[in-house]
Amino acid sequence: MPRRAICPGSFDPVTCGHLDIVERASRIYDEVVVAVMINPAKQGLFALHERIDMLTEATARYGNVSIDSFTGLLVDFCQQRGIGVVVKGLRAVSDFDYELQMAQMNQSLAGVETLFMPTNPLYSFLSSSLVKQVALYGGDVSALVPESVQRHLAGRVPTGTAGAG
Ligand code: ADP
Repeated sequence: MPRRAICPGSFDPVTCGHLDIVERASRIYDEVVVAVMINPAKQGLFALHERIDMLTEATARYGNVSIDSFTGLLVDFCQQRGIGVVVKGLRAVSDFDYELQMAQMNQSLAGVETLFMPTNPLYSFLSSSLVKQVALYGGDVSALVPESVQRHLAGRVPTGTAGAG
């Protein structure tokens, strides 16, 4: 049975911080699924298919990484796919409280474990929402997001439609 892990998130859009975690997870596990959480109540900047396209392009060089999406409980998706571990990046202590609660809930609901990875210090200040804000006001985000995202942002930002989140 291959050891499978999941990196869940909104990925609106994927950043170099996310990719750093995905790459490191791909060296530890046989297969890594990057899964976009679909939250109908939360309107993002990018549509689901755009987030998936950007992720697919940015992770194409990893042979054992695939992209998917899900609604509902993360642990249900994990059980359907035979995934035993959630990999999460921790940027700062402020991330920890909520992540700890979710990890404990997922463990108690379905025995799904969580592995916390310290974020690469290069990216500890980085979030999707900050990238969108900086890009909206014309700032240079080329060191913070993969090329696929730069292109999508360039096509979107001049219209001034960047959302929060
Ligand atoms: P969410 O909507 O859950 O915040 P994100 O797409 O922003 O989703 O992030 C998904 C996950 O990616 C986070 O829970 C965290 O584990 C990780 N992550 C986010 N930003 C970074 C970063 N800069 N460095 C490392 N990991 C990160």
